[in-house]
Amino acid sequence: MRKTGCSEDELFSFLAQKKKLDLAPRYILSSMCTFPHPVAVKAHCMFMETNLGDPGLFRGTSSLEQLLIGRLGELFHCSTACGYATSGGTESNIQALRIARAMSGKERPNIILPESAHFSFKKACDILGLESRPVPLDPDHRVDAGKVAEAIDRNTCCIIGVAGTTEYGMVDPISELAGLALDHGIFFHVDAAFGGLVLPFLPVSPPFDFSLPGVTSIAVDPHKMGMSTIPAGCLLLRNQEDLCSLSVDTPYLTVKQEFTLSGTRPGAPVVGALAVLEYLGREGMEAIVAGCMESTRRLIDGMESFGISREVTPDVNVATFQPVSVPPPWQVSYTRNGHLRIICMPHVHAGIIESFLEAIGEQYAETAD
Ligand code: PLP
Repeated sequence: MRKTGCSEDELFSFLAQKKKLDLAPRYILSSMCTFPHPVAVKAHCMFMETNLGDPGLFRGTSSLEQLLIGRLGELFHCSTACGYATSGGTESNIQALRIARAMSGKERPNIILPESAHFSFKKACDILGLESRPVPLDPDHRVDAGKVAEAIDRNTCCIIGVAGTTEYGMVDPISELAGLALDHGIFFHVDAAFGGLVLPFLPVSPPFDFSLPGVTSIAVDPHKMGMSTIPAGCLLLRNQEDLCSLSVDTPYLTVKQEFTLSGTRPGAPVVGALAVLEYLGREGMEAIVAGCMESTRRLIDGMESFGISREVTPDVNVATFQPVSVPPPWQVSYTRNGHLRIICMPHVHAGIIESFLEAIGEQYAETAD
């Protein structure tokens, strides 16, 4: 560390220099995060110092967290849902599995999840000592519910379904999985980290939420399609009792128990997340989601016009194609199976899609020469 601090000018010119090394957002087609909405940034700055880890000190901020959970609960058809703001999908998934394990009381618990499940479940199983039972997908990249049924045994403590898979943007057969969970009395966690703020705003979408009686918990990330500042995830539960299974005593805080994973938790992105939902309302979110879906369709049509075929028609704004390379500086990603993957987030607007298609068209023309 420096013995004497540097000047503010020196400091910020150093930071600005480093920031220039970041890829310009317009070229980022591979991320499930996006540019935060201006009201999220404004709200974030307003609540910068708040710490939800000691809610009695920040009663107003804490009430806004509860309002966010309430709004999401309503959106997911359970106005009495409870929960809290996490750091993102990874923490929500870990916590859901902790609850499932605690509530089951099983000694050698296993979980059943789609092969497409996010890698955060690997971390969760490692931390929690859970046996993971990945189940194969059908040709449309959705989990095969029949194979999920076959994998259940008396040690199964949780079934997982994904509403908007990370790699292919598909929704698993959540209704069927919820039915299985209900029949067997097993905790059913829906990972809607991405799709949770897309599906409710589509003109037509499959049920994936608490409207299905078998759904026990839902992970949803405002820092993805909710356009909040980072980090903002949420874990929602149908029953308060489930959440309380994680409670530990916190004797020196303003509240005497907490069920969260982190202690200190930022209020700023949580208020940012709420600000976006309040400011845009259902109509505003529908417009944003409609734009992203339109970009996804245009991208797929454009790529197919160059002979680059889609892997699957996605349920949400994730487009995948046969493996092809793309010219720099465009930043795309590739799935485990090698498919080209592009997420049409709000910052990937129509103009950007057209520029990208132009670059792809030029590359393919060059390759053909
Ligand atoms: N679940 C799903 C479906 C995801 O797509 C992701 C991230 O892309 C996660 C969980 C993990 O979220 P985070 O990176 O916010 O921890």
